[in-house]
Amino acid sequence: MKITYPLYIIALSSSLITCKAQTAEAPKNVENTTAITNYSYSTEALLKNIKTLSSDAFEGRRTGTEGAKKAKEYIIERFVELDVKPLGSNYGQPFTFGNYQAENILGLVKGTENTRKYIVLSAHYDHEGIKGGKIYNGADDDASGISALFAFAEYFKTNPPKYNVILAAFDAEELGLKGAYHFVKDNTIQQRNIVLNLNMDMISRSEKNELFAVGTRYYPQLKPTIEGFKDVGKVDLLMGHEGLGDGDNWTNSSDHAAFHKAEIPFIYFGVADHEDYHKPTDDFERIDNQFYQDAVETIIQVFTKFDALEL
Ligand SMILES: [Zn+2]
Repeated sequence: MKITYPLYIIALSSSLITCKAQTAEAPKNVENTTAITNYSYSTEALLKNIKTLSSDAFEGRRTGTEGAKKAKEYIIERFVELDVKPLGSNYGQPFTFGNYQAENILGLVKGTENTRKYIVLSAHYDHEGIKGGKIYNGADDDASGISALFAFAEYFKTNPPKYNVILAAFDAEELGLKGAYHFVKDNTIQQRNIVLNLNMDMISRSEKNELFAVGTRYYPQLKPTIEGFKDVGKVDLLMGHEGLGDGDNWTNSSDHAAFHKAEIPFIYFGVADHEDYHKPTDDFERIDNQFYQDAVETIIQVFTKFDALEL
């Protein structure tokens, strides 16, 4: 007893020291993991815009409807407010197919250095409209991408891009990527002067906090930027979904396919399909505000890295 007692004390005190050391370190770790992201745009405006565009008043924004017209007007108002100039003589690029009258909305932010080349930032403003009496609001698909375009415009006011940037709000994506194909084919800008497309379609929610960047399989020159990217907030930026057996192949899943077909390098940013995908429940209330804000910041930061490269 006499021998073991002091040993017990020694063991106890050394374990106390260990505990103390651990508790002294713990707050540091907590601080590191909860570091507040310094967003380079107004998160308040971002959330207001996605909420508005996906509200019932926009009736699901189906191509050729009153809801789509309202969305177009809203996008143009934001562009004017944010100093985004029209790409052509005005913002609209109308086109027709079948019985549809459609229209892309195209804005331009002039570059400071590579003024003959263009990066296209894109998202689609159309969605499924009203079916069976239900409004398909399309908050994630793709009011999230359109509102991110406005965040970019705001960012460019104090951080002008080196390349010219086209902010493209495409129409008729849901009807077969029609707006994007029309843009790539019929634009006044020669295809060879478009050096990159960053397409955003469904970026506001993910159960696993995963945002995918698709396209490096085909354009390996873009890979180091994505690979070396330091994750922002809760978003885990991953590569995949490129037809290599790692889940669904998203190479042709959205508007970036039109650029890819023309051999223009692209990165598509998007999340995995969720339970509200193409359902009337794809509503603002179901998005993950924190994930969305971090996803937009992620894409802005990836953009700035590409913008600094020789594309
Ligand atoms: Zn979509």
